[in-house]
Amino acid sequence: LMDAFLPVSEAIEKIPQYQDSLDRLNQMQASDLAGTELSDLPSVASLPVGHDAHIVLKDVRYSYQAEAGNVVSLEAKNSTWTLDDIQLDLPQGKKVAIIGRSGAGKSTLLKLVQGALLPSSGIVQINGVEAHRYGDGIASVVSVLNQSPHLFDTTVANNIRLGRRDASDEEIAAVARQVKLDRLIDSLPAGYATPMHETGQRFSGGERQRVALARVLLQNTPVVILDEPTVGLDPRTERDLLKTIFHTMDGKSLLWITHHLVGVEQMDEIIFMEHGRIVMRGTHAALMEQEPRYRNLYQLDRPQLRMN
Ligand code: ADP
Ligand code: MG
Repeated sequence: LMDAFLPVSEAIEKIPQYQDSLDRLNQMQASDLAGTELSDLPSVASLPVGHDAHIVLKDVRYSYQAEAGNVVSLEAKNSTWTLDDIQLDLPQGKKVAIIGRSGAGKSTLLKLVQGALLPSSGIVQINGVEAHRYGDGIASVVSVLNQSPHLFDTTVANNIRLGRRDASDEEIAAVARQVKLDRLIDSLPAGYATPMHETGQRFSGGERQRVALARVLLQNTPVVILDEPTVGLDPRTERDLLKTIFHTMDGKSLLWITHHLVGVEQMDEIIFMEHGRIVMRGTHAALMEQEPRYRNLYQLDRPQLRMN
């Protein structure tokens, strides 16, 4: 069972470097920036944790083949865009579901929002600053819950503390309660101090996701990306986890890639991607009324599991 957990040394590397980012921001504010072009600045580090984030994507194209900023190079290769003509404007608190087949470009789109990729052309900005320029500071703006979060070979408390390394025991207990892990943890031999490898099989797939969700809550970023966090869970566990996610994400911007249309009714917008383009978008109600393809998908997608 030990093999299921990664060594702590790797865990340490994954702790968001807030303090470093804030230090860099402070240094920059202290220096004289007069007359400096925005594009000349080093990475701008983070917004203070908890602030609003306004995400804008304008005329974005992306190709893994094209060099950043070099649109011509792709056309020379006679290839197509991984993302093309992407327009998004997400004020703080907007909740968006992104759907579409495997390979449609969903994960690539979210890597651009995280500043991990540069657009080949167009603009990707958070609060008016290009996403990639946040550098490591992006960890205080955007957090990610993906399909296979790692649990590390340390205590249960430290596994949650990965979300924010200076979190107190009280803060850890509070987020554990929010994600409904408190009863499970209290039942462990040493509670929060129980080493992960001594928890037996008691953390199921859904509960491992809840540990990851607790980290995201500690990280407390204005934007949360959910990249198919319910893959591999049984339908009931999926529905219960989504309920907890939506309940705890109030006020946050949510970009949720989902393979199932379970819970989409409560999103502000649904974006349907195909071959790198947004081919349908709107509220669930509008798409049900106006888009037969969407209506079919929704009705085929296990209607017995509706959350409402
Ligand atoms: P989705 O998340 O919708 O399944 P992705 O954004 O992962 O789609 O992938 C979109 C396209 O880009 C796919 O054709 C995929 O093969 C390709 N792709 C994804 N990642 C890379 C990469 N690192 N290098 C080259 N091509 C990639
Ligand atoms: Mg993907």
